[in-house]
Amino acid sequence: MPDIPPKIWLSPPHMGGTEQNYIQDAFDSNWIAPLGLNVNEFENTLAQFTGAPHVAVLSSGTAALHLALILLGVGAGDEVIASTFTFSATINPIIYQGATPILVDSEPETWNISPKALETAIIDRLSKGKKPKAIIPVHLYGMPAKMDEIMEIADFYKIPVIEDAAEALGSLYKGKAAGTFGTMGVLSFNGNKIITTSCGGALISDNREIIERTRFLSTQARDNTPHYQHSVIGYNYRMSNILAGIGRGQMEFIEQRVSQRRTNNQFYRENIESCKGISFQTEPNGKFFSNYWLTVITIDPEKTFGITGEIIRTALDANNIESRPLWMPMHLQPVFAQCPFYGDGTSEKLFRNGICLPSGSNLTDFDRSRIVTILKGILKK
Ligand SMILES: *Cc1c(COP(=O)(O)O)cnc(C)c1O
Repeated sequence: MPDIPPKIWLSPPHMGGTEQNYIQDAFDSNWIAPLGLNVNEFENTLAQFTGAPHVAVLSSGTAALHLALILLGVGAGDEVIASTFTFSATINPIIYQGATPILVDSEPETWNISPKALETAIIDRLSKGKKPKAIIPVHLYGMPAKMDEIMEIADFYKIPVIEDAAEALGSLYKGKAAGTFGTMGVLSFNGNKIITTSCGGALISDNREIIERTRFLSTQARDNTPHYQHSVIGYNYRMSNILAGIGRGQMEFIEQRVSQRRTNNQFYRENIESCKGISFQTEPNGKFFSNYWLTVITIDPEKTFGITGEIIRTALDANNIESRPLWMPMHLQPVFAQCPFYGDGTSEKLFRNGICLPSGSNLTDFDRSRIVTILKGILKK
């Protein structure tokens, strides 16, 4: 048997070392529940870091998106506009509410929702007698969407915005945190995100009532009575005090994690940006600061002499290195094929030609050189 080099994952968890102290605190105080000091403190550090004054930590980013829609009163027969170029968890909660996703294409600069296509979609839905109940832009792979343009349109048509910042903790637009432009922002702490609590998420907002209501709905919506009385439907979506302990430890290293991801991105650029037919998802100008959660490239097979993203993925895989195609746009998904779509094919083109490179904040110099050696071996200068 030849020696198989150790596996390099796309975006594995990266523990800082203090997480277990906070878990121990939870055990010592016997707060093994979806409340306790870790929950409160994790919320406080997230509020401080993002600048969002109010934060509720939840069982997942998906739960946060679901509650955000509920808080905006989205229900059966409503329409919700969302970016088509995303992970399915952005869209599923719209369906949970019995509403219809209206899928909008990307623009080629940030790869996020196109303000132009967004406005076209709104005008067309209005002409059909339906006013969309919410707009969900996504900051894909950490790259902030064009928030000035998006908020201008949303404000003009008076439609609330839920930002899906699940991949964008630490990303900034004009110096302000992704997730803090709309009525609400959603964060995720799943195992592959920039920080993790194994699973978990948060809803952030500058509206105190919204976040208080989130805490209420996420803990079964119990009225303020000694007996168990319920006037509305509740959810069991609050974050566990154990997992919040992991989050507290993770937040001690968030700045480093952002800079490590950005270092990976810089390293890939220095080594393969000059290769023919290779382009990177790139901050369009100084307004945009991406956490570069994942480094993502597109390949133009006409310029790479036939080398495709899939050939690259297979070559890396043969060397025990995980890479991944881009998110398959939602309007191309069998399950969402019936949803109205507004666009010009930008996200589909990115999907067909793109690949996510290993981007963990714990990649070593040795890992990185293993990866680029393979990439340089395939790609031509
Ligand atoms: C991860 C992710 C989510 C879902 O978050 P979970 O915590 O896994 O439920 C939603 N949207 C996007 C864009 C994501 O990447």
